[in-house]
Amino acid sequence: MKERLDRIKKRIADAAIACSREPESVRLVVVSKTVEAGRVAAAIDAGAVILGENYIQEARDKFNALYDRPVQWHFIGHLQSNKAKYAVRMFDLIHSVDSFKLAKSLNKEARKNGKVQDILIQVNISREETKSGIDETDAIDLVTQTSGLENLRVKGLMTMPPFFDAPEQARPFFRQLSRLREQIIDRNIPGVGMDELSMGMTGDFEVAIAEGATLVRIGTAIFGARR
Ligand SMILES: *Cc1c(COP(=O)(O)O)cnc(C)c1O
Repeated sequence: MKERLDRIKKRIADAAIACSREPESVRLVVVSKTVEAGRVAAAIDAGAVILGENYIQEARDKFNALYDRPVQWHFIGHLQSNKAKYAVRMFDLIHSVDSFKLAKSLNKEARKNGKVQDILIQVNISREETKSGIDETDAIDLVTQTSGLENLRVKGLMTMPPFFDAPEQARPFFRQLSRLREQIIDRNIPGVGMDELSMGMTGDFEVAIAEGATLVRIGTAIFGARR
């Protein structure tokens, strides 16, 4: 586990250096979906500091087993408004906000918990029907609307390009998300931060880093193929 994790960290650092970025400007989200708590604990011991989970129920079981560990929990899966309560209790950053309805539910729960919830807006750059995320053309409106919710703080954008065998093919999608980020920065929307770009997985994270990723979400390269 430690070897795999160290190898990925090295590849992240090398990819950053290759495009004249600071290695510390890219953080690794260790994607632990379908991985049982014991192996997640081993990953934490091996140096994982951010965990990424996709499913609320599964995350709750692990969160309860590992709550005293010094890690950040990020939610990266599709989130339904009726699960907002659980998401706000557990997660330091929610990568997958893609509707105002969901944003309002999260805001309400965050207010109840006396918390300001950090979120990213998930954008469906590829416009695949099967993918979550808001259309790019509606993303700025969603960011603007969400900026008015007192208990949410927008920190950046997330995307998931289509699956390709060749990572280079994902580059235009990463580049497009990066452009959208610039456009949002130019709008100077009060209260909106655009520091984070969550993009890149096992197959394509080096390309994502070259296009500006600050959070890469990696599961398979660390835990092996999922069942
Ligand atoms: C599963 C998943 C990942 C990790 O994918 P790997 O190819 O296993 O690295 C990243 N992001 C999201 C949203 C995922 O669902």
